[in-house]
Amino acid sequence: MKKGKLFVISGPSGAGKGTICKKVLETDSNIKFSVSMTTRSPREGEVNAVDYHFTDKESFLNLIEEGGLLEHNCYLDNYYGTPKKQVMQWIESGHDVILEIDYHGAIQVREAYPECIMIFIMPPSVEELKQRLCGRGSETEDVINKRLEEACNDIAHADMYDYCVVNEDVESATAQVLEIMKDKED
Ligand code: 5GP
Repeated sequence: MKKGKLFVISGPSGAGKGTICKKVLETDSNIKFSVSMTTRSPREGEVNAVDYHFTDKESFLNLIEEGGLLEHNCYLDNYYGTPKKQVMQWIESGHDVILEIDYHGAIQVREAYPECIMIFIMPPSVEELKQRLCGRGSETEDVINKRLEEACNDIAHADMYDYCVVNEDVESATAQVLEIMKDKED
């Protein structure tokens, strides 16, 4: 059986990559989304096992120890990582898989799985990013400022990606991501 492809999608928090991933998934049921594990607390409306597998630090560290994560990173005092088993099963059974992770994780995935295709979602501007982060209303100013700082770090790593998509508007950014994914099927 033909194996599926592994797509890594990164971009600063607030760049809209979550929305784009959702829209991509809606268009093709063959594409699977890897739900990450995190030790961060759920935001309002977030659902366990849908948005993240929410867990505690001890369980997370145990999973690293057991080799159960494809990659992981610590971001603003919380751990984030990709459970390996499910991703590998999907690829083996012919599904394309999307990982929505940061550049620290992307570097690890490329090491472990060099065939992966890496796409960076760029916000139209830092000003716009700030507005989107503030608009969430779920974080303190301190956290927003830290996220902005991290965002600039993320953007500085955009050129290690195979593709960069600027999210001026969600529909056209989604179309561009789908186009990249389709191209890779040929
Ligand atoms: P948030 O707290 O906004 O959901 O995510 C914070 C950052 O962690 C984002 O840049 C997001 O892409 C990244 N992230 C989410 N899941 C993972 C993961 O499984 N691995 C890594 N390395 N980063 C992740």
